[in-house]
Amino acid sequence: MLMKTPICELCGKTATLCSACRSKLKNGRITETDFRVATFLYQLNEGYNISGASFEHALDLGRVVLILTSGNVGLLIGKEGRVVSELSMHLGKKVRIAECSGDMKKTISDILLPVELLGINTVYTKDGECCRVRLPKAQIMRLPMDLDSLERILKSLLKKEVKLSLE
Ligand SMILES: [Zn+2]
Repeated sequence: MLMKTPICELCGKTATLCSACRSKLKNGRITETDFRVATFLYQLNEGYNISGASFEHALDLGRVVLILTSGNVGLLIGKEGRVVSELSMHLGKKVRIAECSGDMKKTISDILLPVELLGINTVYTKDGECCRVRLPKAQIMRLPMDLDSLERILKSLLKKEVKLSLE
């Protein structure tokens, strides 16, 4: 089975960038963090059998790197959390794995942990559709990132304007 990452297999295995992957990086379709995670996953694949993993995107949230997978979350966590702790050591940050293929609400709840997601509503403004993500004001200090980064991440996940609502 072939591991799925945002870069091609050759680049992943050699930690270089071919012209196609380089242009993806240049136009922002992948990030430096995606590249670091992908190449490291290919390295890890030699010691741990994670070739079934589907790595979609990595988001650097400041204190935490969020790794989104469209496949089995358990593969990237590893037995007794070994894969996730290798990733964490390599990146020098805490790593959180979340699934991004199914329920978006579940993905967002995973990102916010330990803060509780109160709800997501679509609101219609004169500028179009906007997503209101409701968070408990009293827990904001426990977010794994600052509010600006959170808003950016949610925007890129939901592909919509996002307004955080602290309640
Ligand atoms: Zn490539």
